[in-house]
Amino acid sequence: MALIVQKYGGTSVGSIERIRNVAERVAKFKMLGHQVVVVVSAMSGETNRLIGLAKEIQKDPDPREMDVLVSTGEQVTIALLCMALKDLGLKAKSYTGWQVPIRTDSAHTKARIEDIDDQAMRADLDAGHVVVVAGFQGIDGENNITTLGRGGSDTTGVALAAALKADECQIYTDVDGVYTTDPRIVPEARKLDTITFEEMLELASLGSKVLQIRSVEFAGKYKVKLRVLSSFEDAGEGTLITFEDNHMEQAVISGIAFNRDEAKLTILGVPDKPGVAGSILGAIADANIDVDMIVQNVGSDGTTDFSFTVHRSELKKALEVLDMVKSAIGAREVTGDDKIAKVSIVGVGMRTHAGVASKMFKSLAAENINIQMISTSEIKISVIVEDKYMELAVRALHQAFGLDARPA
Ligand code: ADP
Ligand code: ASP
Ligand code: MG
Repeated sequence: MALIVQKYGGTSVGSIERIRNVAERVAKFKMLGHQVVVVVSAMSGETNRLIGLAKEIQKDPDPREMDVLVSTGEQVTIALLCMALKDLGLKAKSYTGWQVPIRTDSAHTKARIEDIDDQAMRADLDAGHVVVVAGFQGIDGENNITTLGRGGSDTTGVALAAALKADECQIYTDVDGVYTTDPRIVPEARKLDTITFEEMLELASLGSKVLQIRSVEFAGKYKVKLRVLSSFEDAGEGTLITFEDNHMEQAVISGIAFNRDEAKLTILGVPDKPGVAGSILGAIADANIDVDMIVQNVGSDGTTDFSFTVHRSELKKALEVLDMVKSAIGAREVTGDDKIAKVSIVGVGMRTHAGVASKMFKSLAAENINIQMISTSEIKISVIVEDKYMELAVRALHQAFGLDARPA
């Protein structure tokens, strides 16, 4: 007998018929003698709908009330799933985040899980219940409802698996595993049987939304056995996130991620002297704006151009800050560009193979795609390109690195 945590995303519980399908899958696992904890998201589109209602009232609604609002989506699905399970003759009990309780910090709309009390859930499991927990939500030290950020039900699933020392955490979604890149953008994308935890962490942080990054961090920290599978088809083996790197016979690059979340700022004609980068980024940090990529080009006239990227939603604020810095440091001009995209290749094979960067840059050049910025780490290379070339860049790289599925 195993203890399994299964998480079902929005499309997987998007209608009554699908909720019934989930109940049937859970019943199969119960029939095999396993204990099952199920985490569900809100029905697909519901979280967006609720956010839309709030925005009709105010552009920036109070974060505490926002959490009270958006957490309701998951309360609907836990109840409906329990009804469907009971309809199949199973014992089932629903839990909202505060009923578990799942304790978080107080960072509304992006809270972090601090502690999970597993006692009540364990008692129910021992009494033969399926335990159904609302994803995405928790409660802080002052009993305020909190939510974990978009895609946060993945994190609830993995955190519960860690707290309960579950044998496996299964993330059921609308694709049958982790692919070499988003199969909706590149139809040739190939499902991976395994991917290392390190690679999954990079892909999630660089834009692959199949798993929320915090869920991968949790899985790494608590060594949770994590698998991504389809809730629609006969699930198959899905993709297992592994901790050991048995990469010998695999490709150098495991996956490609992309996003349009960033904007680029450039400050031109900056006097080339010590302390300038510190002044620019210091002012940005003081305004609480996170910086991602940074590039400084030394000119021949004693000045430099300094570029960096921030989250797109912070472009306006960052431009205002730079306008003030500009006169203080004697720079010439400030520009902002939100028509950029970041494309990243990820693979632990990069550690042992030379020439990956040059191959990436040549493939992009062959498509006439200009690279605006570059950043690298041990297992990834990211480039900024004009956003209209994003999909072309992803396809070209997918092919160049031999990731396209071979014709059947
Ligand atoms: P859920 O509602 O089940 O949480 P999400 O929409 O959050 O589902 O995540 C699944 C989606 O992630 C897929 O439909 C796919 O479009 C997207 N995706 C992005 N990158 C990848 C990838 N590398 N492999 C698989 N899916 C990916
Ligand atoms: N319902 C939340 C969202 O749409 C959480 C989740 O689905 O994981 O982001
Ligand atoms: Mg998701």
